[in-house]
Amino acid sequence: MTPTVTNPGMLLIDGAWRPATGGDTLAVENPATEETVATVASASREDIDLAVASARAALDGPWGRMSARERGRLLWRLGERLMERADEVARLETLHNGKPIFESRQIEIPAAAECFQYFAGWADKLHGETIPVKGNYLAYTLREPVGVVAAIVPWNFPLLLASWKLAPALACGNTVLLKPATQTPLTALALGELALEVGLPPGVLNVVTGPGSRVGRQIVEHPGIDKIAFTGDTSTGREIMRGSAKTLKRITLELGGKSPNIVLADADLDAAVRGATLGIFYGNGEVCAAGSRLLVDRSIKDAFVEKVVARTRKMQPGDPMNPKTRLGAISSAAHLERILGYVETARREGARLVTGGERVDIGTGKGYFVQPTVFADVTPDMSIAREEVFGPVLATIEFADLDEAISRANESEYGLAAGIWTRDIKKAHYVARRLQAGTVWVNTYNVYDTAVPFGGYKQSGYGREMGMHALEHYTQVKSVWVDLNM
Ligand code: NDP
Repeated sequence: MTPTVTNPGMLLIDGAWRPATGGDTLAVENPATEETVATVASASREDIDLAVASARAALDGPWGRMSARERGRLLWRLGERLMERADEVARLETLHNGKPIFESRQIEIPAAAECFQYFAGWADKLHGETIPVKGNYLAYTLREPVGVVAAIVPWNFPLLLASWKLAPALACGNTVLLKPATQTPLTALALGELALEVGLPPGVLNVVTGPGSRVGRQIVEHPGIDKIAFTGDTSTGREIMRGSAKTLKRITLELGGKSPNIVLADADLDAAVRGATLGIFYGNGEVCAAGSRLLVDRSIKDAFVEKVVARTRKMQPGDPMNPKTRLGAISSAAHLERILGYVETARREGARLVTGGERVDIGTGKGYFVQPTVFADVTPDMSIAREEVFGPVLATIEFADLDEAISRANESEYGLAAGIWTRDIKKAHYVARRLQAGTVWVNTYNVYDTAVPFGGYKQSGYGREMGMHALEHYTQVKSVWVDLNM
């Protein structure tokens, strides 16, 4: 039923498409229309065993023997192929996720392709070193792949977050099992198809679809898997730590956030208003780094909130397939309910709803759409100030001075990202150093580049994706001693 994936009901194992051995399937819904758009396979334990065995065999076989330069060439080609089919893949991304086609086609798919090409360049630039030691020995290091990597990805940026894991994993010579979210498996399957087209050897990339509560768990506990690269909820991250402890797997976790976006009184306020709305409404707020806590200097708070509200009211959700749409559908009925639940709780706890807060009908009577929402007078103890809503809901909190702004910003259990808006360069750098966050944006928000590391402080996880720091998580170092005594 899907328009471009030729094998939507199949798993990619050992370079071939096959149905789940148990014959189980899962329906995929378009959240903008509530229609079932595909049926995908739900992998059994046996399927996972086969995928792991093929990934292991590929490590010891053609992939392990391939030169680093040739690996890089294949990854580069994968990025190229993704762009050649960007229109179709973007359509799939919008179909299962509900995000605007503009975002899928112009931002996410090109960023994923660039990620493959960035890491393609690293493939033949990783090497060990020779080390001067005491005694008559030659001591050197080899930088080797970790082995079989499982990439477990969520539904908000299905292809991009897969590329952040696959590209460095493959560049470093690992093999991969990719498990997409149940809601959004289609672009992972499309990627599997492209990987075969460009000639990735069998077993190097396996795509196994199925529920995280079973398939995800089995992957995490599987003794044949060496590393888990995960993005998703903090509570799932904790479960993954527990589950992987039995086999002491390496893990990297990119988890939730409640990121502060701080506006000082001396900021360029029009730019800060754009940054505050982009920070929370880009991707419908279903973005781990969303600037969901707007911290505003008390002296400008009322005027600033007024400007934010004026801009927010101009943004309305629409048909995700329309290229002009900038706010799409919420990813599922359950998630829509969760967001509306947070709106209700915020009101009950005393926050002032200044705009939005309701479900929207875009004229079709179908789909999970919600108005972009702004709360004022939020206090740090409220749920909406502490918990990740993961939707287009902004919580505005005031502060009296710079020290209070910093302590409010840091009082979250999360530490993924933060923004600071000021014209004072000293204050900007001072605040950037004191914020407990893996990324700090100064006078901008939600800017990313494949060359710049991304990841969390505190309970937003650990490890870094993108940039050269990602490579450390996908390699291990072997020390070799050679006796040169004659
Ligand atoms: P999850 O963390 O549950 O899902 C992320 C991925 O992990 C999916 O592929 C999921 O599979 C899989 N998974 C789920 N449970 C397990 C498990 N026990 N072991 C291994 N893998 C597992 O996030 P949700 O999709 O449920 O979203 C819930 C909330 O998480 C959101 O509302 C948001 O607050 C947050 N979130 C944060 C993200 C981020 O980027 N930081 C991204 C997505 C969500 P399956 O889909 O089959 O359940």
